[in-house]
Amino acid sequence: MATTIAEANHQIQHFISGNAVASKSGRSGKVTDPANGQVIATVEFADAAEVDAAVAAAKAAFPEWRATALSRRAEIMFKLRSLLDTNRNEIAHIISQENGKTIADALGEVARGLKNVEYACGVPNLLKGGYSEQSSRGVDVYQIRQPLGVVAGITPFNFPVMVPLWMLSNAIACGNAFVLKPSEKVPSASLFIARLAQQAGLPDGVLNIVQGDKIAVDRLLEHTDVCAISFVGSTPIARSIYETATRNGKRVQALGGAKNHMLVLPDADINMAADAAVSAGYGAAGERCMAISVVVAVGDVAGPLIDAIRERMIKIKVGPGKDTSSEMGPLISREHRDKVASYLDSAKEDGASVIVDGREDAATKSNGFFLGPSLIDNVKPGMRCYDNEIFGPVLSVVRVVTYAEALKINNENPFGNGTAIFTQNGGAARQFQFDAEVGMVGINVPIPVPVSYYSFGGWKSSLFGDLHIYGPEGIQFYTRGKIVTSRWPDPGNSSVDLGFPQNR
Ligand code: NAD
Repeated sequence: MATTIAEANHQIQHFISGNAVASKSGRSGKVTDPANGQVIATVEFADAAEVDAAVAAAKAAFPEWRATALSRRAEIMFKLRSLLDTNRNEIAHIISQENGKTIADALGEVARGLKNVEYACGVPNLLKGGYSEQSSRGVDVYQIRQPLGVVAGITPFNFPVMVPLWMLSNAIACGNAFVLKPSEKVPSASLFIARLAQQAGLPDGVLNIVQGDKIAVDRLLEHTDVCAISFVGSTPIARSIYETATRNGKRVQALGGAKNHMLVLPDADINMAADAAVSAGYGAAGERCMAISVVVAVGDVAGPLIDAIRERMIKIKVGPGKDTSSEMGPLISREHRDKVASYLDSAKEDGASVIVDGREDAATKSNGFFLGPSLIDNVKPGMRCYDNEIFGPVLSVVRVVTYAEALKINNENPFGNGTAIFTQNGGAARQFQFDAEVGMVGINVPIPVPVSYYSFGGWKSSLFGDLHIYGPEGIQFYTRGKIVTSRWPDPGNSSVDLGFPQNR
């Protein structure tokens, strides 16, 4: 296997044409265990030539892979699914080691990623096109979907396995060759997946990994042999990737950041809403693009809701992800932890009330990048803690009087990834589903990540591009349609006709 915990403190390399490839760029980064701040490995950073080598490997593998029978491609995906399943504990440990999330949470991530592989196992069915017999006399018209060629994925630190699987499962099953540039903070899990794919029978060169940073990304964006880019990460980078890659003629889906609201109406069950807010606000230390970061309390629900949230959050056990008693792990880096914590100071300066300050949590005394769950009340748009994506365990409460005000706040936020409403009123919930200017809506469901047979994607500043990721739109993204109009004429009836073709 490529990278295991036992091999810690080693060099993490590229994976090109089925082999580990050492970098000659002379550039590298440190991989840190967020639970104790120790450097555990060095990740080599690709230069343009190394990216070119990965793209060339993919380009060379594409013709044969594209010609491989659908049933064989499906068989490989089934085998990959089975290997991921068998290795799920080891994968969860790799995730936890580099990202910091708890093992239980990492296992959940692997389980969700597996669903994308399962979906891709159905590729023979997913690529079925339409057929119209006798669209004119003796003429049939049909549609086929074909792979694009070499496609690339660029992924964030917070889901080292699930987000790569969102992309590569469908891309590869559709017949493309893939180059993945994982986050340099969590580089090992993708190598592990690539080795499993090789074991499953995926031909060398169909899946390649280049480690690195902006230099590797920039080369992928300009490379003429890369047909499409899938990106998941923060909004400023997503926007810039979209602009650059589309200017270079590529198909792009670039998913960005989020600020997910949770409306709690006066008739909601307070305990259920508090359970949901705490789970969705502090799970994975708030480092989820579908985390709830703003609770919009409608009417007089705020008082009892805040009491119920506070009662739950102070019981959360913060500690190393690998400690099975921990419910919440550290943040990804010291720098990020300090930035997240700085929003607690800015909240006070901006006139909000910090109800629970996570800097007082016992775990923060260690060398790990810990911050306890934090709660801010009386937050308003215009405050720094509201206007920015915090991406940490900080929940803000905005108090409003009416549903209309809550909706306005939700819809005026520039992000539009996920949102949720908690109510027992079906009519109110349906109205919100109709009104919300957001890509994914939960009704009494705080993290409405779509199942693998729907597609994931936000609106507004949470997604640049037209197609959402994975599911049916993922298949569309990684293929292009071709329409064939076919006639097998009787030579006896053939004649010259200079008129524009019409149905007869
Ligand atoms: P990031 O934008 O810093 O990095 C994402 C990827 O882009 C990494 O592979 C990184 O190496 C690369 N990158 C970073 N800076 C770059 C630059 N200047 N030029 C080119 N490439 C660059 O994001 P992150 O910190 O790894 O992840 C957290 C962010 O991702 C949050 O904003 C979160 O909301 C978002 N996210 C969104 C989704 C979604 O589905 N919408 C899912 C997960 C995470």
